[in-house]
Amino acid sequence: MGHAVTVWDELVGQDQQLAPLRNAVADPVAMTHAWLLTGPPGSGRSNAGRAFAAALQCAEGGCGECRECATALSGTHADVTLVRTEKVTISIQEVRELISAAQSAPSQGRWRVFVVEDADRMTERTANVLLKSIEEPPARTVWVLCAPSPQDVPVTIRSRCRAIALRTPEVEAVAALLVERDGIAPELAYQSAAAAQSHIGRARRLARDPEARARRDQVLALATEIRGVGDAVLAAEDLVRVADEDAKAATEERDAEEKAQLLETLGAETGGRLAPALRAQVRQLEEDQKRRATRAKRDVLDRAITDLMSLYRDVAVIQTGASVPLVNASHDGHIRDLAGRTALADTMRCLDALGTARERLAGNVAPLLALEAMALELRPQTGAGRSR
Ligand SMILES: [Zn+2]
Repeated sequence: MGHAVTVWDELVGQDQQLAPLRNAVADPVAMTHAWLLTGPPGSGRSNAGRAFAAALQCAEGGCGECRECATALSGTHADVTLVRTEKVTISIQEVRELISAAQSAPSQGRWRVFVVEDADRMTERTANVLLKSIEEPPARTVWVLCAPSPQDVPVTIRSRCRAIALRTPEVEAVAALLVERDGIAPELAYQSAAAAQSHIGRARRLARDPEARARRDQVLALATEIRGVGDAVLAAEDLVRVADEDAKAATEERDAEEKAQLLETLGAETGGRLAPALRAQVRQLEEDQKRRATRAKRDVLDRAITDLMSLYRDVAVIQTGASVPLVNASHDGHIRDLAGRTALADTMRCLDALGTARERLAGNVAPLLALEAMALELRPQTGAGRSR
């Protein structure tokens, strides 16, 4: 290893895309007060937003190791506000609160930075409230809006932001990062990066945690296991259960660390009694963590569906004879088997059902309902397995 760590390290293969952000850090005179970071899932748009916020607070321009960097990245820096909503939309009230916070000067840092991770979750009316602050920003305020594509935010907002379009890094680049930074064996690193479809955090977990790999395999197995209605219902229940476990594994450790850190900051003895004012702070943290767990569960389900989509995409690759590498090369046997006993039209129907399920989950339909409907569609419709 031996190379210097910076806040930008996780964003592999995007030096050119990130250059304007890094230049703005190096030359504050040229600062733009509103940025729009766009890119497909896994392109790291919220990571880039947080890295930018950290780089702006860090005396070294984003060393990745100092207190400013650490607190900015985790969202606990006094002058960095990370807006991450659990809800389908960001409310007008929330935006008003942000704008009012934006009026005050930074308390310690050089900038007051607002990273809105889901800027696409604003209605036109809410966006218009934000617009004024973006048009005439207080001197030391920086807005960083993140969205899947520029079209996902109202044109009025879009036209006043400096746009940065991120892209999904190559599988090879993500694999190289896992090898270099995490000491993962090259073959496992490549397999994990491919399976995670270049999503770095996901790839790292798959590479490090055999249970995460096993859970993913379990999800992929659904494609071949669902035969009848009973299987479909059970599969949906399984999927929700696996998602619960996965979300728990992902948040548990961090939750415990955060709580220990807060208690330490508050000067509390472990196991001792807390003053009521301090208890309120702990309760607030626990509520935040609960909300985060809900979102994590939904994210895990979305990813499970994305994983299944990658499998059907591989099936379609075989069925059409396209010469591109399989995402799930380690499931080659199953994929060829499924490709052999179904038609391309079946595969497309399954992909549609998966897409619909994702939309329903995003629209706050109860997960089990959305997944049952999806699993029913995944039943074989040709040959003897058909039962309607
Ligand atoms: Zn730093």
